[in-house]
Amino acid sequence: MFDPDYRKGDSNSTPFGQDAMLNPAPEQKIPDGPTTPQVAYQMVKDETYAQTQPRLNLATFVTTYMDEYATKLMNEAININYIDETEYPRVAVMCQKCINIVANMWNTPEQNRWKTGALAIGSSEACMLGGIAAWKRWIERRKKAGKPYDKPNFVISAGYQVVWEKFATLWNIEMRQVPLTREHTTLDIDQAIKMCDENTICVVGIEGVTWTGLNDDVEALDAAIDKYNAETGNEVCIHIDAATGGFILPFINPDKKWDFRLKWVLSISTSGHKFGLVYPGLGWVVWKDKQYLPADMSFTVDYLGAEVTQVGLNYSRPAAQILGQYYNFIRLGFEGYRNVQYNSMQIAKYLHAQLSAMPEFVPYSTEVPNPIVTWLMKPEVQNSAKWTLYDLQDKLAQHGWMVPAYAMPIDIQDMVVMRVLCKQGFSRDMCDELLHDITAAVAELNALEYPTPTRIAMEKNIPLATKAFNHTGK
Ligand SMILES: *Cc1c(COP(=O)(O)O)cnc(C)c1O
Repeated sequence: MFDPDYRKGDSNSTPFGQDAMLNPAPEQKIPDGPTTPQVAYQMVKDETYAQTQPRLNLATFVTTYMDEYATKLMNEAININYIDETEYPRVAVMCQKCINIVANMWNTPEQNRWKTGALAIGSSEACMLGGIAAWKRWIERRKKAGKPYDKPNFVISAGYQVVWEKFATLWNIEMRQVPLTREHTTLDIDQAIKMCDENTICVVGIEGVTWTGLNDDVEALDAAIDKYNAETGNEVCIHIDAATGGFILPFINPDKKWDFRLKWVLSISTSGHKFGLVYPGLGWVVWKDKQYLPADMSFTVDYLGAEVTQVGLNYSRPAAQILGQYYNFIRLGFEGYRNVQYNSMQIAKYLHAQLSAMPEFVPYSTEVPNPIVTWLMKPEVQNSAKWTLYDLQDKLAQHGWMVPAYAMPIDIQDMVVMRVLCKQGFSRDMCDELLHDITAAVAELNALEYPTPTRIAMEKNIPLATKAFNHTGK
């Protein structure tokens, strides 16, 4: 029998020779006593060891590569709390400079030296802030008109990211969903307008729909809302959820009007940690003008002649991401960002073309407006194949690739798609490797004699348990 006293491993032993390594890692209770840093490190490290290499995680929108200097800067700022403005005043100023840069990138008309916006932990918080501001502005208007303000709603396509469901549930605001259909792969504007009424706080347009990578046609939405408002006397405005597009469109398609150049776009949010190219968590929200940020949501500090406006759901939060964002702005400049985004777009288009040429697949859309490729099985292949995209997902995972397969939202949920995010760090060579692995996996699956369990389940219409991916955003 094993004698636990056989040898006392102490801190002179290697971590794997120490007694503590014979114990399972704690799950319910804090351990009675301390252990060595080596053992604690090893246990924590090992628990996360077997996971995907972040750069092979093609499911996530979030940055998985930054250069050495950015990483160094961010690591060196790991002990800085953003909220301690008195102690680290330059961080607050740097944050405001990032807001100015982002606001100008989106063609803000605001002439103030310091633009109206806020830092967030990601697009989720940024969307919340944009939504809350629209809600409060609507309440003010209703109060002034002596009308009830207890039944707010907002309109959005069914391709929304889960944050909008949280927004609706947490603040008790009705979410009116415009279905996505095979004809209307993005927001159906006529339907959206039909859902508006005097209680509509805003319509949310999405630039970079999480499920598909497509963009809502915001210019047409703006024109339709302008007409609707003129006819009804309502003041429905637009919030743009540009989690992805906010850092793609300004560089790749600067002539496309989706931002503050449009009349009714009063706020825009984005994820600094997606195509802003910063490690998580960072988001930005900007308002078209100070007047659209309700005064009771903001807290203004004067420092060194700077008027720093603080808005946010969090108090303490890491400052490192702000340093990372500002570093990127200085390091890359407009041209550097454009180069990175252009390459991601080219690789996405290449992947799109290669997959389209495979006999099994068809892309979800012929256009690739963001570095996101979504595809599905051709209907005739799906009818006869002995496998599904879930099987392909599993095969690719064996090679370390994380490529999610998932069912589309309500009304087209029988459509199962697969999606790849082409981010900085996913090189042309890696893309070729992925294509090679897809081709090999498909050949193996095509050679199957019997249908796979997911194929049988699909046949019997058994809903498949969602896999480990949170495809709706992470
Ligand atoms: C990713 C995403 C979000 C949520 O963003 P986080 O930065 O992860 O909080 C919201 N909306 C859209 C369209 C997204 O793609």
